[in-house]
Formats: sequence, C-alpha cells, structure tokens
Amino acid sequence: MTQRVVLACDKCGRETPGTAKHILALDGREREIDLCADDLKPVTRLLEKARPANGRAGKPAGRQEGANGLSAEERKAVRQWAAANPVQVNGKPWQAASTGKIPAVVVWAYQEAKR
Ligand SMILES: [Zn+2]
Repeated sequence: MTQRVVLACDKCGRETPGTAKHILALDGREREIDLCADDLKPVTRLLEKARPANGRAGKPAGRQEGANGLSAEERKAVRQWAAANPVQVNGKPWQAASTGKIPAVVVWAYQEAKR
C-alpha cells in the first residue's frame, strides 16, 4: 500500500497530482519550491532561454596548464618521483630526465603512489 502525498503548488495553491518539489538555485542561493506541472512550464522555458545560444554554458575558462593538466611544479615532482621509482612505458623504462611530454601512464603511476 502506498500513500501518496499530494503537494500544494506554492504558486497557485492547488493540490494537483504531479506537483513536485523543485530546487531552484541562483547566485548560490537555493530555494525549494513546490510547483504543479502548469507552473513549472514557465520556469523551464526561462531556463531554456537563459542557456547561451553558443552552447558553452558552464564550461570553465581555459586554465593555463601544460599537457596532462599539470602545473610546472607538478611536472617537476612527477619527474623527481619517476627518477626514484622507475616506471615502464610500453615495456621500456621511462627516462625521467628526458624532456618532452610526460606519458599519461607515468602521471597516473605518480598519482596512484601519492594516494
Ligand atoms: Zn500551480
């Protein structure tokens, strides 16, 4: 036996089946609001309109980092770690002193070791 609780819409006050609790967040402030399907529509439309047309919503601005998403200090730390802890890349020991891109597997091994 299920007991259904019908919520009253905070906007129109009707107790319509399908009225549900929604959390709206704006500028870091959250608000819980119970809305029936009819009153939810304009909110949904507003959110659709607010989405930038170029589809780049929510993506953070480019970060100034090298390959692998590591900072210069982190790359140095990975090389130092790899010098003391030999890592094999494609079956061959990776030369920590080598310049160039640090293979992802080395970064992964370093991160695992630091856990
Ligand atoms: Zn309503």
